Amino acid sequence: MVKKPFISIGVIGIQGAVSEHIAMMQKVFVDADVDGSVSAVSKKEELQKIQGLILPGGESTTISRFLKSNDLLDEIRRRVQEGSLAIMGTCAGCVLLAKKILDTHANVHLLQLMDIEVKRNAFGRQRESFEESVTIDEWKDPFPAVFIRAPVITAVGKDCKVLAKSQNDTIMVEQDTMLAITFHPELTDDTRIHSYFLSKIQSMNEKKI
Ligand code: GLN
Repeated sequence: MVKKPFISIGVIGIQGAVSEHIAMMQKVFVDADVDGSVSAVSKKEELQKIQGLILPGGESTTISRFLKSNDLLDEIRRRVQEGSLAIMGTCAGCVLLAKKILDTHANVHLLQLMDIEVKRNAFGRQRESFEESVTIDEWKDPFPAVFIRAPVITAVGKDCKVLAKSQNDTIMVEQDTMLAITFHPELTDDTRIHSYFLSKIQSMNEKKI
């Protein structure tokens, strides 16, 4: 039997639901019978050994300032563009992946990797946090999406595919090896989005051979 390659995933570990992403990814490795490790990363050197990166929720201004001042912003961008790093951003992480944000006052250093425009805190005070059952692409069962001061994806370029909407709002998109999600899959028991991210890393790795 051919042994599956080892997969290393990092979660930017400054703030937000870091341990929840780690726990969910570990469960996905076990369920998929894949040899892998997942750990919090916060240094440029730590990016070298990973093939997948998760940008968790939190405050996009704070996370982006950290990424910039620790030389991570350019390095993440370079690795994704050269095709050696798959990336998934949830909530604030989705904001960081965008080419553009509508909130011009926000001091956010964007990765600008995905051809999307995003509006921060888009649901207003009445609906700061809520859970909604959403349909993702052609997945059979609905997904329990947890929104916390969530952004909305207000425009999607031709290279991006919309995977989910809530009413008319785009809430999940993909582009090549990148996934942007405005909600928090790591705060549920549903591992399907993390499994999907693992499959993206695996197909990126296969293309390189
Ligand atoms: N409102 C936050 C931001 O724009 C995101 C909130 C979250 O990640 N839960 O940075």
